[in-house]
Amino acid sequence: MTYTIAVMEGDGIGPEIVPEAVRVARAALAAAEAPGVEFVPVPLGMAAFTRLGHTLPPGTLERLAETDGFVLGPIGHATYPDDERAVNPHPIIRRHFDLYANHRPARSFSRVPSLHQDVDVLVLRENNEGFQPDRNMMRGSGEFQPNEHNAFSVRVISRRQSERIAHRAFEAARARRGRVTAIHKRSVFTLTDGLFMDTVEEVARAYPDVRLDDHQVDTAALHLTMRPQDYDVVLCTNMYGDILSDLTAGLVGGLGLAPGLSAGDHWAMAQATHGSAPDIAGRGVADPYAMIASTRMLLEWLGARHEDAALTRAAHIMEAATVETVERGLDVTPDLGGEASTSRMGSAVAARCGG
Ligand code: NAD
Repeated sequence: MTYTIAVMEGDGIGPEIVPEAVRVARAALAAAEAPGVEFVPVPLGMAAFTRLGHTLPPGTLERLAETDGFVLGPIGHATYPDDERAVNPHPIIRRHFDLYANHRPARSFSRVPSLHQDVDVLVLRENNEGFQPDRNMMRGSGEFQPNEHNAFSVRVISRRQSERIAHRAFEAARARRGRVTAIHKRSVFTLTDGLFMDTVEEVARAYPDVRLDDHQVDTAALHLTMRPQDYDVVLCTNMYGDILSDLTAGLVGGLGLAPGLSAGDHWAMAQATHGSAPDIAGRGVADPYAMIASTRMLLEWLGARHEDAALTRAAHIMEAATVETVERGLDVTPDLGGEASTSRMGSAVAARCGG
């Protein structure tokens, strides 16, 4: 079996961290004797706009459809020019490929300065509806402004998406510590969060071995901040998950340590939780951990989807090499307390993979 993975570097620190993630993946694949994986560059973001006149050049979605999975660097769309060809590409990709589940793990490392130790939480977030106005409508936007005094946002919660993300959460919990905490504000959003929670409780009946509890989102922010060790899988609608996953990253040492995988039933996309970090872009100090760990999650997903033990082995090699590098604390970037550059940290992890 051979696989093709599309590589889109994205903006800001993307061209610094994405090549390191690919380098580490290649080393791990070689060490696992899983040779049939090809990484193909696909232009996207500001570099594509400058060169090809569009941040998501025509034909990109078709090219991606011919591949098995994608690695996407961060997108700095907040500073894109006011031009209809300068679209924010990642919600379009997430929606087009039905990448409905966003997996955002956060774990602590004993050598990394952090607010908490012994944390191992997975925020599982619905990816394609909720409050995000750029992806919750078939046409148009979920935000509108009828006059200068009022503006509105519409939140979409559907039984179907709630059901799908709930199944993912219970399956993830089965492979972890067997607990799901569902997040809502049902006391106020009685219809939308009510529908979400009713659906989660229905799905829970198929997983009697997994313990389900729930928190109002405000209470969850408090408890996660004070006792993150008590959580296993945190199941969220889109916006709550977006916010709480930055919070869990903050608890374990920052956004450099926050990987992510957007996964559907047919494709998945490695994409770190953090943005394009324009304040440090071009300085060679960006932490590649999140991008490497996101790419590792993609290999793991591909290995499970295709029942390919060599890919799964490569993912485990990548994880062990990354964790060891961070725990040793020698070849790590400044945000992790070290002095290494992005590429030195990438080389150190790749060298630990062997291959
Ligand atoms: P950001 O995540 O880019 O940066 C926040 C802070 O974290 C900055 O101080 C940055 O230096 C630091 N940081 C982020 N990643 C790091 C890394 N790998 N290593 C070390 N430090 C790191 O958030 P922002 O500055 O609010 O947003 C910048 C741009 O990114 C905006 O255009 C925003 O819209 C976009 N954004 C994109 C995504 C995404 O592509 N998934 C997510 C969030 C923000």
